[in-house]
Amino acid sequence: MPGLSDAEMREFTESVRGSLRRVWPTARMAGEQGAFPVLEEIWRLAAAQGWTALAADRSLDAVMAAAAELGQLACPFPLLDIYVAAELFKSLPAVADAITAGEIRPVIASGAPSGFRFVEAAPAATHVLALSDTGTARLWPISGTTPTGGLAMPAWSDVSVACTAVAEADAGAEAIEEARTLYRLGLAARAIGAAARAVELSIDHARNRVAFGKPIGAYQAVSHRAVDGATDITATRLLIDEAVTAYARGAGTWTLAAELAVEFGAKAAADAQFGAHHTLAATGYFEEHDAPWLFRRANADVTQLGNVTPAAGSVIDRLIEEDLSLPALELGGDAEEFRAEVREFIRPFRTDDPFLHLNAEANEQFNAAAIAQGYLTMSWPAEFGGQAASVQKQAVLTEELAYNKLALSGKAVADMGGIAIIRHGTAEQQQRFLPLMAQGALKFYLGYSEPEVGSDLASLRTKAVRDGDEWVVNGRKMWGTGAHTADWVWLAARTDPDAPRPQAGITLFLTRLNRPGWEASQHTALSGEVSCSTFFDDFRVPDTDRVGEVNGGWKVITEALTQERVNMAGSSAVMLRQLDDLLALVRKDAAGTVGARGSAERARLSRIAARLQASRVLANASLRAYESGAGSRLEAPMGKIVAGHLMEDFSRAAVQILGPAGALGEQVPGVPGGGVFEYGLRLSIMYVVAGGTVDIQRNLVARALGLPAR
Ligand SMILES: Cc1cc2nc3c(=O)[nH]c(=O)nc-3n(C[C@H](O)[C@H](O)[C@H](O)COP(=O)(O)OP(=O)(O)OC[C@H]3O[C@@H](n4cnc5c(N)ncnc54)[C@H](O)[C@@H]3O)c2cc1C
Repeated sequence: MPGLSDAEMREFTESVRGSLRRVWPTARMAGEQGAFPVLEEIWRLAAAQGWTALAADRSLDAVMAAAAELGQLACPFPLLDIYVAAELFKSLPAVADAITAGEIRPVIASGAPSGFRFVEAAPAATHVLALSDTGTARLWPISGTTPTGGLAMPAWSDVSVACTAVAEADAGAEAIEEARTLYRLGLAARAIGAAARAVELSIDHARNRVAFGKPIGAYQAVSHRAVDGATDITATRLLIDEAVTAYARGAGTWTLAAELAVEFGAKAAADAQFGAHHTLAATGYFEEHDAPWLFRRANADVTQLGNVTPAAGSVIDRLIEEDLSLPALELGGDAEEFRAEVREFIRPFRTDDPFLHLNAEANEQFNAAAIAQGYLTMSWPAEFGGQAASVQKQAVLTEELAYNKLALSGKAVADMGGIAIIRHGTAEQQQRFLPLMAQGALKFYLGYSEPEVGSDLASLRTKAVRDGDEWVVNGRKMWGTGAHTADWVWLAARTDPDAPRPQAGITLFLTRLNRPGWEASQHTALSGEVSCSTFFDDFRVPDTDRVGEVNGGWKVITEALTQERVNMAGSSAVMLRQLDDLLALVRKDAAGTVGARGSAERARLSRIAARLQASRVLANASLRAYESGAGSRLEAPMGKIVAGHLMEDFSRAAVQILGPAGALGEQVPGVPGGGVFEYGLRLSIMYVVAGGTVDIQRNLVARALGLPAR
């Protein structure tokens, strides 16, 4: 496969960074009078160091890495233009060689030879590269340039050219379309590089600048802004990587993957750049700082995207018109082989149900077959009858079930409770609980939240007091999902009110409910499911039901959060299915639902599709990083932030685009999507709130970025 190894890539990036900084030391260079001559110098350097030859072995990964480095320095050196020109003229070796040698210095321009406008870096170039819809690429010798002042610094130019093109390549319409996509991907990479640098500077500033007695980074208005910028930047980089990998593999979907990265990255770059400015405030608003130059670069590159648009249309145009879904993402290792196995396994159980209710019971035959197949306990170690499956394989199963709207009863209990019992339970508990869990026959509800306790779980108040071989529990638990049908509770209680840290005084129990002193009262959620307030009144729990050490419950609770990553993959799969279902509806009457190309509805859905792909790449990155122990502090909470907000925005968009009919419930015959979008809208808030709210996730990312807690 073409492209560089990790080590080669690191070496290449460092060499580009070092060489660039010698001649273009900071972003402020963009405002210097001598910027164009320096660009010419960089061109000589690029030819000498082989950056101009990267098209020869299709090293798009290296080009994108270099584009991001250029963005960090607000430097508009046209590396993508060179790559594209060399690629298009490969059938004319003399021209391609001259491009590689830096003798022909091409810059992409749209417009006609009578006057090319908005041309980047033109005074440092020798030729304009014009891409025609009919499939021809032409190189026109530049005869004059007039810099046009404005946002871009150094300025774009109006360019006049000699009356005949020096070279013409009949590359074909497909190659021209690919060239445009490459160029757009490069613009996104450079813009995101500039924005990333601005966010980095804003985080440094937030750590050090003090206001009202504390570093400004301790204010959530500031830290959450930085987190949002960093999240968008991380997601864009991952989307670009996906596109580059697909390109290197020659996958037919690479252009769609690239347009998803561009769609997401363009907004991400502009938003992150503004966010960084808001934090830098006056300090970053004056030209002595790098930020204004990064601002100009990021926004100029984003604007330039409108100048070179793909004939195939926007992301949503392609999804609708070419009957596509979002490009598949791979989890690596043996996970994809397992996906094929799971798909085969679930084929006979596929359902026509429009969606899966959150509290849906599994189809009995399916559940029995899945248990026999070992899926319920696949996360358990082999000595406990499991398959020691990697988190990637677990995620594959979760994704496939979610996409195909199939419930697997007892899976959450086996994953969370089973693993905790294996790690922290006694041998007796393992013998007592694990066989029940392995059959999906142990139903517990989660007894964490309380009337005064949600996010701040460590401050829980439900008390358990030791009395001989038993514990006496008093207190109230809230929002216990499924408590009205459960036989057991997974209960966190305070066993040491005087512990030095609140986390140190909590103990965990897995215990039966069929004893005196427990009552439940039901609440119906906005989504229709039932959760319960549960009351513990001198409720006695045998010590043999204690999981882990006395006062050691916090460890059990936090370890179980690993499962969140696998669940996140499931959330993305639910959204992917809803997007596919929505697209199927739209295709029946595109004009009536989303209008023609360029409509506001289409723009809205393009953005949603790109955000969904962003959420999927973040979830995958957190799963990939799991084995190395990384990712939990960045990609995992970032993925949850993106997925949570997206679920709300997607559901809202779907219902609004479908109009009042979209707001009808599943019980109404003929309702669009069988009511999935209406249900999805009511359910969507849960993705933001439950399992650690998005604000709490932002706090986690803020700490990982080095921002102070207080
Ligand atoms: C559908 C559903 C099912 C649930 N099922 C269960 C269950 O089975 N068992 C169970 O124990 N619990 C369950 N919960 C409760 C869930 O775990 C809590 O809702 C969640 O932990 C948030 O707690 P809270 O609702 O009390 O909000 P709070 O913690 O009171 O937060 C209120 C607001 O303040 C913000 N906030 C709080 N602290 C901070 C901070 N430090 N920084 C910034 N912002 C902050 C939050 O983000 C939120 O916007 C369920 C909730 C829902 C919606």
